[in-house]
Amino acid sequence: MMRALAFAKVNLALTVNAPSADGYHPLRGIYQSISLTDTITVEPAREDAITVSNREAPEDDTNLAWRAVDTARRTARISQPFAVDLVKAIPAGAGLGGGSADAAAALGLMARRYGIDDESASEIAEGLGADVPFAFVGGTMLGEGRGERLTRLDPLEGFALAVVVPPFSMSTPDVFRRWDELDGPLGPVVPDRALPPKLRGGLAIRNDLYPAAVDLDRRIDEWRDELSTKWGTDVAMTGSGSALFAFFAGLDEATDAAEQIDLPTRLSVGVEPVSHGWVPTDA
Ligand code: C5P
Repeated sequence: MMRALAFAKVNLALTVNAPSADGYHPLRGIYQSISLTDTITVEPAREDAITVSNREAPEDDTNLAWRAVDTARRTARISQPFAVDLVKAIPAGAGLGGGSADAAAALGLMARRYGIDDESASEIAEGLGADVPFAFVGGTMLGEGRGERLTRLDPLEGFALAVVVPPFSMSTPDVFRRWDELDGPLGPVVPDRALPPKLRGGLAIRNDLYPAAVDLDRRIDEWRDELSTKWGTDVAMTGSGSALFAFFAGLDEATDAAEQIDLPTRLSVGVEPVSHGWVPTDA
């Protein structure tokens, strides 16, 4: 039995450029793993199976974690069937990289067990999706290209985030398409006073997908406005939404802020930055 925790991420910053010939948008952003985890179990079985509990995710071969196991199996040239079980805490369609985290953890477990080398594992990660290479390494990273060109940054610490996932999701391709239709808008900048010291004066802390997400669904802006009023600080969006977050001095403050939000169906939680994307728990 192979088991791991898969960590969610936020994009503390995400600047977007006009699409290249392959249709993908060159990005530059700060990716940060956070203390919100799914649990994934992969084990040899009599036939292929995937089960998901706690939150919604596909229970078929479109599940990214399943595709990671299947691709790793082919690369390792084994014909063994596997059962994948996901206990989800990370909401889908939120910009928190939950599906990518699950896939990275599945790939990591398979690579470790079946001796897939780092270079092949990185190639598989890239093929699975733009956020999978980050989730495979995790921590604090500058991400460029589609998000696969990663440079490790000094770990960020000494702050926590309140993360709120409103009760609707966003489609990443739709948000990028709308960003093109709007002629490449820039996101609102989070001012230094709302940032932890280590993030001040560096790369602009803004998310260029924000205006496109709002144009697709006004409720994002209403939620941001309400949270910002309640918390008395600036609120930003991660990835293509719909999750929103703000910086607080510590986990207690962030948790208190999150608990002010009455949100029965999706998520409102205080989290801390962490230094990894997945961690095996079966060792
Ligand atoms: O790679 P992934 O499947 O996660 O990307 C989902 C979609 O988001 C892509 O099909 C593309 O439309 C869009 N995207 C993009 N530029 C990026 C990352 C994603 O246009 N850098």
